[in-house]
Amino acid sequence: MKFLLRKCIVCGEYTFKEVCPYCGGNVRIPHPSRFSIEDRVGKWRRQQKREFYMKRETSRGT
Ligand SMILES: [Zn+2]
Repeated sequence: MKFLLRKCIVCGEYTFKEVCPYCGGNVRIPHPSRFSIEDRVGKWRRQQKREFYMKRETSRGT
């Protein structure tokens, strides 16, 4: 399990828990590293999709 440092949106305290242990408020990851990962996966998936269609096109052509 990967521990990400989160920040409480209510009191601003940093925690590794999914709920703030200080005030019980919601927490979020302060730096959105999630977006870069999604972009990387999206790029990879687009590439896979393109390869899939290219293979289909070639198999259909013969
Ligand atoms: Zn809090």
